[in-house]
Amino acid sequence: MRILIVGGGAIGLLSARLLAEAGVEVCLLDQGALGGEASWAGGGIVSPLYPWRYRPAVTALAHWSQDFYPQLGGQLLHDTGIDPEVYVTGLYWLDQEEAAPLAWAAREGRPMQSVAIEAVYRAVPALARSFSRALHMQGVANVRNPRLVRALRAALEQLPNVTVHEQCAVSGFIREGERVCGVQTSIGEMRADRVVVAAGAWSGELLRSLGIALPVEPVKGQMILYKCAEDFLTSIVLANGRYAIPRRDGHILVGSTLEHVGFDKTPTEEALASLKASAVGLLPALADAEVVGHWAGLRPGSPHGIPFIGPVPGCEGLWLNCGHFRNGLVLAPASCRLLADLLLGREPIVDPAPYAPQGRLG
Ligand SMILES: Cc1cc2nc3c(=O)[nH]c(=O)nc-3n(C[C@H](O)[C@H](O)[C@H](O)COP(=O)(O)OP(=O)(O)OC[C@H]3O[C@@H](n4cnc5c(N)ncnc54)[C@H](O)[C@@H]3O)c2cc1C
Repeated sequence: MRILIVGGGAIGLLSARLLAEAGVEVCLLDQGALGGEASWAGGGIVSPLYPWRYRPAVTALAHWSQDFYPQLGGQLLHDTGIDPEVYVTGLYWLDQEEAAPLAWAAREGRPMQSVAIEAVYRAVPALARSFSRALHMQGVANVRNPRLVRALRAALEQLPNVTVHEQCAVSGFIREGERVCGVQTSIGEMRADRVVVAAGAWSGELLRSLGIALPVEPVKGQMILYKCAEDFLTSIVLANGRYAIPRRDGHILVGSTLEHVGFDKTPTEEALASLKASAVGLLPALADAEVVGHWAGLRPGSPHGIPFIGPVPGCEGLWLNCGHFRNGLVLAPASCRLLADLLLGREPIVDPAPYAPQGRLG
């Protein structure tokens, strides 16, 4: 079987790897560089920001992936020599209403607890002294997503049955009756037995060429970066929707904005000022630190953040793995495994029904 994957972000890269490892001939296409869009720009928290607010469909993929991430990081380091740095730090939610999160955690068997604020200050000395309570979940990790995509790319390069085309934009699909049997690209037509759309925020636009209304649209997110001492912050901290994520080497990411402005990725002064204020509100010492990076990425927004995974009804041969919104990095391992299970006719890791495009397209 030959499968074309449109889009080489975390979702396309990991889908390609799993399918190729199962013996499929895979061709991965990207209009830019592999892993150069949202999967590079994201923060890499291996958890939804407020996991108790999501539908069970998101929770099911998140939990499978969270349990798998350390193994994925280890496998990639072993296979490629590139360490995606799955850094288990735990996460503190500050001044967070507690009843709903604690009820969710008890139901889901996740290790969340209410912590006295003095204990939080002891554990996170850099934290501002302006909070009155905290929830903590141990075991939450972050992945250094730019390295994750580099490692995935290197892993694909080792597989003889994978072809990659970068700077290769897909503009439409080749149809034979009801069947989709390939794509039109900037370097010519390409054919395959199956086409998987993993084009992130661009997936909705691409499906429009088939007259299909896929509700996936770009949601811009801006982020800033600091470089501090390695022990400056050793947990993820989150208050009022803004978070600080520590990398192992002392880089601290602070994000993020949520903006509905189409495909514009320009970083703005307004967001910079607002993110700096959030950073200092969480970690006052950052007032004296230099911002060493500021960028924006486009999340693939979808209704309730539930990704589309599975075949497109009425277009035999066309499959989706897109619409992961704010959680594409945490959901990637489970989403791509589910896609591979379905494509290969294996027993799926989770019930595929909530992610099926059937009934969710206009
Ligand atoms: C600021 C910010 C913070 C985030 N933080 C987190 C977080 O902490 N945790 C988390 O889990 N998630 C986070 N996310 C979300 C996460 O980054 C995304 O959900 C995820 O990266 C989506 O992966 P993807 O592969 O679907 O999309 P992308 O990485 O955007 O990849 C899609 C690829 O498709 C290609 N493409 C598009 N159209 C075409 C075409 N026509 N032809 C060929 N190629 C095409 C693009 O060039 C791109 O490389 C964050 C996102 C942002 C922006």
